[in-house]
Amino acid sequence: MDKKAMYNLSYGLFVLTARQGDKDNGCIINTAGQVTSTPNRISITVNKDNFTHDMIRDTGRFNISILSEKADFSLFRHFGFQSGRTVDKFAEYSACERSANGLYYITEGTNAYISARVEQTIDLGTHTMFIAAVEDMEVLSREPSATYAYYQSSIKPKPEKKAGKTVWRCTVCGYVYEGEELPADFVCPLCKHPASDFEKVSG
Ligand code: FE
Repeated sequence: MDKKAMYNLSYGLFVLTARQGDKDNGCIINTAGQVTSTPNRISITVNKDNFTHDMIRDTGRFNISILSEKADFSLFRHFGFQSGRTVDKFAEYSACERSANGLYYITEGTNAYISARVEQTIDLGTHTMFIAAVEDMEVLSREPSATYAYYQSSIKPKPEKKAGKTVWRCTVCGYVYEGEELPADFVCPLCKHPASDFEKVSG
């Protein structure tokens, strides 16, 4: 069995947003897709550790903003590498507007948004799958959608190689740890992924 086969699955990238009371939040997911066309339904799968997860579970509403190839790495850092439990991600964020359901969608680095209402919730252990009816949607630009492979090849910063030095690079966000050995319990300070998501880069 070659576990690398999983790498050949193609994924899109999305900012998932929710609103509960007067609190707005959003996170990055790669797990949205259409599941039926009549009626029009999408599914998303969200890690239970994400603050947005609890907001969707409690309110039954979410938007996905589909990221385009124009999405900047700063957008991934803003929505992906910090938690809405400690940071108000929309406090000083201007590249967004509210859709008819009152939730935010992202207007820069995106090519469409979809508003949906949860119909079914499936407990998958670490994650919850929400199956939701599409209520509204708009196309925002003609830019191609960013795939996860495009993020890896063209959006994520490239590590600088340092002559004679060994570094470890986080394959998720690009963070670089300098040192011959990466501690087994190391956690990426940017995206919180474990040491197993780092690769060794020799200078
Ligand atoms: Fe990382």
